[in-house]
Amino acid sequence: MNNVCGWIALAGESPQRPTLAGVQKTDWLIIGGGITGLSAAHSLAQMFPQQRIVLVERQRVAQGASARNSGFVVSHELPGASELLGQPGHAGYQLASRIGVAAGLEVRQRIAELGIDCELSNAGYHFAVHQPQRLEHAQQCVATLNAVGAQASVLEGTALQRRLGSAFYQRAIHCGGGNGLLQPAKYVKGLLDSLPNQVEVFENSAIDDLQPLPGRGWKARSAEGEIEATQVLVCVGAFLPRLGLRRSQTFALELSASITRPLTEEPWQSLFDDQGWGVLSTLPGGATVRLLPGRRLLMRNTVEYRQRDLDRVELAERRQQHVHGLQRRFPGIVAEDLQHTWTGHLSATRSGEPYFGRIAERLHGVSGCNGSGVARGTLWGRLLAQMAAGGDSQVLRDVLSQARPGYLPPKPFFDIGAALRMGWEVRRAQNER
Ligand SMILES: Cc1cc2nc3c(=O)[nH]c(=O)nc-3n(C[C@H](O)[C@H](O)[C@H](O)COP(=O)(O)OP(=O)(O)OC[C@H]3O[C@@H](n4cnc5c(N)ncnc54)[C@H](O)[C@@H]3O)c2cc1C
Repeated sequence: MNNVCGWIALAGESPQRPTLAGVQKTDWLIIGGGITGLSAAHSLAQMFPQQRIVLVERQRVAQGASARNSGFVVSHELPGASELLGQPGHAGYQLASRIGVAAGLEVRQRIAELGIDCELSNAGYHFAVHQPQRLEHAQQCVATLNAVGAQASVLEGTALQRRLGSAFYQRAIHCGGGNGLLQPAKYVKGLLDSLPNQVEVFENSAIDDLQPLPGRGWKARSAEGEIEATQVLVCVGAFLPRLGLRRSQTFALELSASITRPLTEEPWQSLFDDQGWGVLSTLPGGATVRLLPGRRLLMRNTVEYRQRDLDRVELAERRQQHVHGLQRRFPGIVAEDLQHTWTGHLSATRSGEPYFGRIAERLHGVSGCNGSGVARGTLWGRLLAQMAAGGDSQVLRDVLSQARPGYLPPKPFFDIGAALRMGWEVRRAQNER
């Protein structure tokens, strides 16, 4: 089973860039060519039009998690029970919402400024459940969401069935107010293709060593080259621990997803509209489902903590889980309808908050998107550049005050605990997958 990301297959690829070779010098080095690194590159180019900016990527730029995700632009998360209006955690939820709204706006600004065509929809999406008890406090959630400007409402019964074309979901909260959907590979490819010439990009060049040059910056090495940089921004997402920066307290989760062929004939033609929709689960182990423009379905219903990436056979098993998940919602789906299946890694933290900030002198980094890095990564890239350049803003202060990823026990205790916890989350969400 080939690991081909459907979004990338539909978006097409950008021309290949050279690998890092020889000995080079730069003012700014960005490690990692996803949404965060590319957003940082755009911001640095605006701030320092005369300086050299180099971005180095381990594989192809714009083809990691930033292209492989489900395309939800998250401004507002669903509040937890302790975050509802009047509860002790509400102030933290307000802060997270302020950051989320700023992040959603940042995506829209980038798209408008750079003229990126990435099928952005501003129509919001649904937090939906099969078992109504999984959305117990629906009215309080709606009140809390609306208090932070989310334009939320409850949908149930036939209205919900008609909206999604499925009797599977029993209750949902529709949430607009900045929440949106896009084609992730087109978005991140757009960020890459619109980089000014001042930003030099090297691909297929993993940075495997980073050494300080006291008072001058850092020396980064790849297999065939090395580069001395006055300032370094580390934007490698889930791979931060592999770069040897262990204090980040982040860890990687591996997810898998599939996209169907266009479902343009009956009964799909009558069941689905042309606009599409998105559904997030209320449980971490539940399913993400989308109806895409062009009447394709997307299913993402696996998430795992692993020591080793999924191989072909394991990916084929995950694909079977996507088929089952789709069939529970849309009984007419057959395995052959699935066109592409792929994996991706996201960075997670124990607290759900990111790791963000100064790692050492002239070295800044971010990780720990916890599944909402499309919007937050776009914002973080700009803010990391701003912080490294000595700038300040209210949203930067908000992000810094929130950046408390939480303690992770040492290996092997963490490995055992994380695998057990994720297995439990998946079992708990059995009826929602
Ligand atoms: C299946 C899936 C579904 C998701 N759904 C959503 C969603 O709907 N909405 C949402 O907001 N988020 C979602 N996410 C999370 C989202 O994809 C990430 O938050 C986002 O891509 C983070 O962007 P990034 O640029 O920080 O990291 P990445 O996209 O991971 O980019 C980091 C880059 O660094 C490169 N790199 C790593 N190590 C090195 C090295 N040593 N040297 C050079 N380069 C290196 C990697 O190859 C990679 O390209 C999902 C993730 C997955 C996997």
